[in-house]
Amino acid sequence: MESSPGSKGYSRLQQLLVMKFGGTSMGSAERMRTAGLICAEQHKQRPVTIVVSAMSKVTDLLLDTLRKAEAGDSTALDTNLAQLEQRHVITCCELLPTDRQPAVLSELHSIIGDFRRIAQGVQMLGERPPRSVDEAVAVGERLSALLMAAHLEACGIPAKAVNAAQVVVTDAVFGNATPLMDPTREKAASVLEPLLEKGILPVVTGFNGAAMDGRPTTLGRGGSDFSASILAAVLDATDLWIWTDVDGIMTADPRLVPTAVVLPEVTYSEAAELAYNGAKVLHPRTLAPLVEKGIPVWSKNSFNLAAPGTRIAPKVDAPQGPRAVTSMGNVALVSIAPADPELNAVQVMSRSLAALAASNAEVLALTSSSYRQSFCFLIRRDELARATDALETTFALELAHGYLKPFEVDENVGLLAIVGEGMRGTTGMAGRIFTAISQESVNIIAIAQGSSELTIAIVVRRDGLEKAVRAVHEVCQLGR
Ligand code: ADP
Ligand code: ASP
Ligand code: MG
Repeated sequence: MESSPGSKGYSRLQQLLVMKFGGTSMGSAERMRTAGLICAEQHKQRPVTIVVSAMSKVTDLLLDTLRKAEAGDSTALDTNLAQLEQRHVITCCELLPTDRQPAVLSELHSIIGDFRRIAQGVQMLGERPPRSVDEAVAVGERLSALLMAAHLEACGIPAKAVNAAQVVVTDAVFGNATPLMDPTREKAASVLEPLLEKGILPVVTGFNGAAMDGRPTTLGRGGSDFSASILAAVLDATDLWIWTDVDGIMTADPRLVPTAVVLPEVTYSEAAELAYNGAKVLHPRTLAPLVEKGIPVWSKNSFNLAAPGTRIAPKVDAPQGPRAVTSMGNVALVSIAPADPELNAVQVMSRSLAALAASNAEVLALTSSSYRQSFCFLIRRDELARATDALETTFALELAHGYLKPFEVDENVGLLAIVGEGMRGTTGMAGRIFTAISQESVNIIAIAQGSSELTIAIVVRRDGLEKAVRAVHEVCQLGR
């Protein structure tokens, strides 16, 4: 990329730092002030772009409001809208000097007005079209970006709120869109680079984007991490810092395992495996855009600025073996078995996977029995209804004629995964893990030793999941 001097004296975009602030780091005026201090410190030294989440719990509130609207519950709709407005108005008044408040409050009401119009449309229709949901939920990020940019300006840092719908171009899979990197790069060059060249700090909404034809999309729950990595990649950032509410990536979710410790470094692959298997600290697709250029990521705690955080890089010097354990409780196991041995089981499996892919349901783990010709797969519970609908449509004939047994769905399950580079080469590791789980009297239902060298994934009874996580953390000595 050609370098030309920017007005602040640094070469265009050289040393660019992208930082993402999560929901808790945007959760109040006080939290936004801390984020402002972090931005000020970095902006003195280098160009900075930030990506912000909605204030904590706001996305849940917006989704709940749309559900209430769909159900025709006007009272709940009004209560939720009042709550949304109050939270942001109070934050605005606590955060900004009085003379700056009127303009921001007017913009804030206008954004909330956009949400109200969509919610009323949902109420009238009695349904929630996915496209409208995506446009509506992005309002949370638009509100926090507005407040954060206004705060930075008030602190003397030139800043501008940017709606990612103007920058991040995606496919049209509403609710779980995938970025189209080339058009996104072009948009970033035309929308963000001119700001950076003028020394202005773009405050970009996380989570949302727009399809080629402009229809609003979102990147899936927790998607602001992904937004930040997409922007870091297209802007050729030198680093990405993800600010959250824990000291970094830990050996387990500290809410489940009190003895969990922070990992100073993990590889991209380890972080991605942890995220895919339920470690909420990163969105599962965060690392993918960064692989090509090897951009390093730091996971940091905005509540504890002194903690160094976790460095996530293509390669690290850490020892090989198990590094962390994760779990997912909101999953279901679906079993499919032919009733007629004439039925070609491989074809059943391939048609099932095609149906699942078409319904945009992700298979988290898959095991099969060649003798019984049956197989089962693990899926997120919130994707279960559309997955089973798709399977029932695909196999309507076979089910009607009794060639296939009715699908069995077990929702009383959980997934546990142990992750670490080279772990599968560690002799006796799998045995020790299975023994530790059994000693807790937790039933192992399936072992989905993915095709990855890094992960052993185990499906257990849901009520034993947390016990099993602690037992594995202990037996693998992860807390030491
Ligand atoms: P943000 O709003 O900043 O994106 P999230 O709530 O999405 O934050 O993610 C941070 C949370 O992830 C932590 O509070 C922690 O409870 C949870 N978590 C789960 N697994 C891990 C892990 N292995 N390491 C650190 N945090 C984890
Ligand atoms: N606000 C969105 C969510 O709660 C995206 C994010 O926070 O990353 O899912
Ligand atoms: Mg998150």
